[in-house]
This record gives sequence, structure tokens and C-alpha cells, in this order.
Amino acid sequence: MPKVKKATRKEIEEIKTLFLSEYPDSVTELQYRNLYELLISVMLSAQCTDKRVNIITPALFEAYPDLVALANADLDIVKNYIKTCSFFNNKAKNLIKMAQSVIGNFDGKIPLEQKDLMKLAGVGQKTANVVMIEYTGANLMAVDTHVFRVAHRLGLSDAKTATKCEEELSKKFKTDLHLLHQAMVLFGRYICKALKPRCDDCFVAHHCKSKEGFKAKG
Ligand code: SF4
Repeated sequence: MPKVKKATRKEIEEIKTLFLSEYPDSVTELQYRNLYELLISVMLSAQCTDKRVNIITPALFEAYPDLVALANADLDIVKNYIKTCSFFNNKAKNLIKMAQSVIGNFDGKIPLEQKDLMKLAGVGQKTANVVMIEYTGANLMAVDTHVFRVAHRLGLSDAKTATKCEEELSKKFKTDLHLLHQAMVLFGRYICKALKPRCDDCFVAHHCKSKEGFKAKG
């Protein structure tokens, strides 16, 4: 596989400026009303679309409106609520364990520190970061499939793993990481799509290092 050209320092700054001006205040497309609902939605969204999660959650939140209700839930009933979500068996177990752990270890308050969030069942670094980005505007990057693809196509990262890619993007962008995360998610979801990216509508095409972008530039 040919090595992808890396973006220069100047290009990184330009890409950053373009993303921030194109998506000045983007937020998640997950629908939630409080931190409890956000955390559950983000946990469910791993390997699943936000659209699907938004279909599932209203009934789930009605049945389990708070941590206490969820901590005491019957596993099979929770599974049934989320059965159209990928990995629903594990996710159902983790949701209940997460609620039990917040009650048992954090006095019933969902922690807003990355390392504490990651102590909860089913919460890895990406989930923790997305929750903090969305809820507190923390200067953190989180790399999902969209961010990973966009970062590679723009020559911002050649990392093999999401964790390494997150590290590289954080170092290169330094500030406004929460906004850049949301911007790259939306850009990857609707413009720089995995299949048939909309290169003709792309505002960063002149910085693109991928073969799709080169085709668009002619
Ligand atoms: Fe993505 Fe196409 Fe833009 Fe390149 S030119 S970043 S492949 S949408």
C-alpha cells in the first residue's frame, strides 16, 4: 500500500481553520436531555449509528428514567429494549453494571473525569471522551470510524489504531479539539463518506491526500 503523504504544518492550520468555520458550533446528533441519557446514548452508539440509537432510546429512557431504575433492571427486559442495536447482549449487561457502579462507587453521580468514567463498565476512552466533549466542551479528541477515515484522507494521521490517531490529532490541532471532533464526525458522515465521498462538495479537497480527492481535483 503506498504511503499517504502527510499534511504540512501550514496545511494542518488551514484544515483546522476550515473545519472550525464550516462547523462553528456542531454538536452530537444523539438525542438526550441530561448526562445520564447522554452516557447511555454514547455507550449504545459504539458500532451502531446515531440514527438507530435515537430510535431505541425514548422507550428505554421511559422505562428506566434514572440510574436507580437501570441498576435494578431485569437484564432480559433491557436486552429487549435495545435488541436492534449491535452487540445488544453485552451493551445491556454493561448498562446495568454502569448504573450499579455509579451508585456504588460514585455516590450516584456520573463522574466527569476521563479516568473515572473509564472505570465504568462498557466505557472505554472513546466513550469517555465523547461524553466529556459533548457535556463539558473538554479539549479532547475522540476517534470514531469517521474521524479516523477523514484524518487519513487529509494526511493528518497514518496511525493504525484509533488511540494512536487520537494522540496524533490532539498533538497537531492542540486547541478546539471538541469542536474539531464534532466537525470531523459530521464531515465524514455526510461529505467524506466511506463509499462515494462527495468530493465535488468538499471544502478541504485542495488538502486531500487520498485517491478520491485526487480524482476530484482532476
Ligand atoms: Fe474526502 Fe473527497 Fe474531500 Fe478528500 S476530497 S477529504 S476524499 S470528500
